[in-house]
Amino acid sequence: MIYLDNNATTKPFPEVVDVMTQFMTSRFWNASSAYGQLDGLEEVVESAKAAIRTLIGAAPDDEVVFTSGATESNTWAVAEGARRASGCGWILTSAIEHPSVGEAFDSLQEQGVDVRLLQVTRDGVFDLDELEAIVDSNLRFASLMFAHNETGVIQPLREATSLIRERAPECLIHTDATQAIGKIPISFAEELGEVDLISFSGHKFHGPKGIGGLVICNGAQLKPLIRGGGQQNNLRSGTLNIPAIGGLSVAASKTSRLLKANQDTVVRTVRDYFEQRISCLFPKACILGSQAKRLPNTSFFGIPGSDADDLVHILAGEGMIVSTGSSCSANSIEPSRTALLMKYEYKEASTLLRFSASYENTIDEVDVLVNKLYELSSREHKLAL
Ligand code: PMP
Repeated sequence: MIYLDNNATTKPFPEVVDVMTQFMTSRFWNASSAYGQLDGLEEVVESAKAAIRTLIGAAPDDEVVFTSGATESNTWAVAEGARRASGCGWILTSAIEHPSVGEAFDSLQEQGVDVRLLQVTRDGVFDLDELEAIVDSNLRFASLMFAHNETGVIQPLREATSLIRERAPECLIHTDATQAIGKIPISFAEELGEVDLISFSGHKFHGPKGIGGLVICNGAQLKPLIRGGGQQNNLRSGTLNIPAIGGLSVAASKTSRLLKANQDTVVRTVRDYFEQRISCLFPKACILGSQAKRLPNTSFFGIPGSDADDLVHILAGEGMIVSTGSSCSANSIEPSRTALLMKYEYKEASTLLRFSASYENTIDEVDVLVNKLYELSSREHKLAL
């Protein structure tokens, strides 16, 4: 199988599976129990937090709270934002956020909260002129993503957050960094320095599913989303998922090492080769966000005359996995909302496929995929050259 849908999820590293197996067989204790403490499970949790801080360059006093993943982290951050805006002020997000942020904002708007949406340019980048025009001191919460899940566009987060800090000192700032973490080296000071809350998910960087977290910076104080036994400093109750936390820790540490060894540039070579071949064989193909700074592994592209849903199914039948975009909306036959917001026509948006590579993909695999696309285009006369 040629797996090129790594923005949907990644294959866990074998070391992750090994450590999880250990925590599910011989070390299955409750971390808060006497056995768990004797067996050093608290240290397992602390070293997982340290591994996450290293991966993003956060400071030792930035708190990491484990959750079931980025959806929960985003939900928590937005709930806190709504609390801070109650009675006065307004809250901001972009029009292209993941549904776990976008729909949380929609629901707040239905409840009467003053919600404003930042639009994007043709390249899928936050419109900073619009931001400049709307931010004022009544802004209480902003949630702006780091890198987009479909286009891979890396947003000008520092510019946006600096402006917000300057004009709205009381604003709590959150970023959904789920797609950026593990795919690019992050300079915390340069990119995340103004951010208070950062969401991440383990399965996006070869860790387990169902584990992620919220990094709390600048001493931000949050009300818990889930109350109960008081675990994690009363911030997120529930028995700690030690197998997942142990697996996440191993994935984060290995990913830090890979990024240090510049593996992201190897992934970029594979993605750039793919785009070169696509542009050569299909000169009318479009590649979304190609003029913007993007994740090195992602290409959101469309071949005129094709139908993305058909292609995904035909390719899957041949053992090649790509997607039509956000996997969370993969059951919908509607084309990418993000592409429509970037002012692509409905017809063009219906052709879009997302290619997302990982460290494991090779140039040979790209050749197999591109050759298959070319063969399909000539054999079925479905795709316009
Ligand atoms: N935010 C972004 C940008 C994502 O790509 C995803 C996963 N598709 C999520 C949040 C949600 O992550 P999870 O499903 O692990 O909760």
